[in-house]
Amino acid sequence: MKLVRFGDPGQERPGVVDTSGTLRDLSSLVADWAGDALGDAFLARLRSIDPTTLPAVPAETRLGPPVGLVRNIIAVGLNYSDHAAETGATVPPEPILFSKATASIIGPNDDVVIPKASEHTDWEVELGVVIGSRASHVSEADALAHVAGYCVVNDISERAWQLHRHGQWLKGKSADTFCPFGPWLVTRDEVANPQALPMWLEVNGHRYQNGSTATMVYGVAFLIHYISQLFTLLPGDLITTGTPPGVGMGQTPPIYLKPGDVMSLGIDGLGIQRQDVRAFDG
Ligand code: ZN
Repeated sequence: MKLVRFGDPGQERPGVVDTSGTLRDLSSLVADWAGDALGDAFLARLRSIDPTTLPAVPAETRLGPPVGLVRNIIAVGLNYSDHAAETGATVPPEPILFSKATASIIGPNDDVVIPKASEHTDWEVELGVVIGSRASHVSEADALAHVAGYCVVNDISERAWQLHRHGQWLKGKSADTFCPFGPWLVTRDEVANPQALPMWLEVNGHRYQNGSTATMVYGVAFLIHYISQLFTLLPGDLITTGTPPGVGMGQTPPIYLKPGDVMSLGIDGLGIQRQDVRAFDG
């Protein structure tokens, strides 16, 4: 299933996209895509319902982020060996983890705002993983059973704030609008292999990132296992798993986002995002 939330910012309602691509309103069956609604039991019950019996939502309706309550965004740094090389870093012997402030979350096609005084705002297409059930000390073999679904994330980054403000990366990853999320959450039963997904990102029609989750250093199952030894993952937590090569910082000379730019990005089977970039306007 493709789980979505639709409506104005802060007022989104839960829905699904049916097999014909029609958006259906699910608010009579579930309050929001959050907590237990992301668990196997509820999703299994939902599969027995014919979505064509639910109200259709106009196709032009805004999509919000597909999860209503994300308590943690856990991001993975330098998780593609070729991206590590372009940034001049070496592949770490254990995953690098950092967080993003949850206030950075926006819908998949909302505007991205360059922060006040920023000169180094950059893009990163990433595979997002949403946790469906509490995960503490899980084995790598059991890890994927804790996934609700997969999605596209644009891990927007202010490079100077990330790298030259005396730590930690959180500083450069968390500004408002820095986490476009969606368009939908594809439940894990529909993603046969999360380590074989082509992914791409374009700015103004030029393709800068063209990769695949096949070249991740630490795969999704290992990451969940690893994180769950450090702290408990909760339903709705979003893990964003790192980016392939082709970020702006890696260009010669580096290229950063400016007002008027248009980003589009996608992952096979998980949908496409599109964001207009605009200046901070107070
Ligand atoms: Zn990233």
